Amino acid sequence: MAVNFVPYADVDFSRIDAVIVGSGFAGSVVARELAERGGMRVHIIEKRSHVGGNMYDCVDDAGILVHAYGPHIFHTNSQQAYDYLARFTNWRTYQHEVLANWHGTYIPVPFNKNSMEIVFGPEKALRLIDKLVQTFGDERKVTITELRAQEDPELQEVAEFVYRNVFLYYTQKQWGLTPEEVDPSVTARVPVFISRDNRYFQDAYQGMPGEGYTALFMNMLDHPLISVSLNTEAESVMGLEFESDAEDAALSAITLKDLPFEGPIVYTGPLDELFLGRFGRLPYRSLDFVYETYDEEMKFPVGTVNYTVSEDYTRITEFKHLTGQVAPNTTIMKEYSRAYENPREQIPYYAIINPENNAHYQRYRALTESLPNFYPLGRLAEYRYYNMDAIVVLALQLAEQLLAR
Ligand code: FAD
Ligand code: UDP
Repeated sequence: MAVNFVPYADVDFSRIDAVIVGSGFAGSVVARELAERGGMRVHIIEKRSHVGGNMYDCVDDAGILVHAYGPHIFHTNSQQAYDYLARFTNWRTYQHEVLANWHGTYIPVPFNKNSMEIVFGPEKALRLIDKLVQTFGDERKVTITELRAQEDPELQEVAEFVYRNVFLYYTQKQWGLTPEEVDPSVTARVPVFISRDNRYFQDAYQGMPGEGYTALFMNMLDHPLISVSLNTEAESVMGLEFESDAEDAALSAITLKDLPFEGPIVYTGPLDELFLGRFGRLPYRSLDFVYETYDEEMKFPVGTVNYTVSEDYTRITEFKHLTGQVAPNTTIMKEYSRAYENPREQIPYYAIINPENNAHYQRYRALTESLPNFYPLGRLAEYRYYNMDAIVVLALQLAEQLLAR
């Protein structure tokens, strides 16, 4: 068996029960569930030339397995998500570690007891650690916002150090904003950790797909009732019908090949794209990736190095740490964050969460709410900052809901 790729022109929608836009985890998990458990004929419309969304990986010219849309490490506390994906991949055990390059010295991120010893020296670090433990408890995670709110001068000193040397410049590069200007949930992803644990994540289940993400997706979509049209943009093939001509009029139907499609439509792309940006584009951050290959076995001590006080790029990932690939050479990737200005040429990677943008998003969302067979799902369609595992869980829930109907 293999994935059933079909040119869009050949798809007969009278023989399709559900349409899915996008083949990342949101779209692919729902597709698999509807086909396998519901016996539904599912067609996926994907604008890229491959499946797998942002998880897509491939072998580069140097023979190294690289991620095409940013480094993806699977971590979760959901046994359901981990076990579900285990049906389509074996898991390689991998615990991600990140070091900040701080003026040429490596310090663990999240900033922890080990980082404190490096920057403050063992004696002073001991005193500061003691105070942190007394204030917050041992093995606790504290957000930078929480730490900066402390009045004790020594805790203030730690907070200011971490703020200036871990968060400020990295956040300015990543978002074009200061840490105070981004939603607190964003910086809270990377706390100060009162611990000796150098891992980036402490989730119960962590790993990388043994043969890579693309292989996982090819297995998931390999089902006789699933078909996929690549290189097909939803907005170019979907006809939108509205309740009236008013700008805010709600959708009344979506047509495919000129006929209203009555089955479920699960949409996982950006909502503003579907409506051709009629209320203005939703704000996102985009990224540029620069790959470099070296004729040496490994370049860096860990999977990712964050540049928190220097360089124009935010971080470098060395894929062989993640994948466990053995080779005499290595490929690294630098990430440059950019304003998202041109949907034709750029990819929207990060929703910029704030009240104004959320309201902007809700305006688009309202257009879809009265269409009973339309389901926005995922990082783009919900304008949220979701990790992969959250998407897998939400996709399983949506599939359950659709199967119960
Ligand atoms: P996507 O993977 O973006 O899939 C959406 C799909 O829809 C894409 O294939 C796209 O081409 C397609 N599409 C979009 N618009 C249209 C359209 N108009 N017509 C047709 N098709 C369309 N999460 C983790 O858990 N761990 C990590 O280490 C991690 N690292 C990340 C690193 C970066 C740089 C980024 C940006 C994200 C990272 N994430 C990570 C988050 C992860 O990428 C998302 O959780 C995941 O991609 C969500 O899946 P999705 O299906 O919602 O979206
Ligand atoms: N962050 C930072 N310095 C770091 C790591 C993270 O300032 O060394 C901040 C930054 O604002 C970033 C956010 O914390 O956008 C979340 O980081 P994470 O590593 O979770 O981002 P992602 O992997 O999703 O890009």
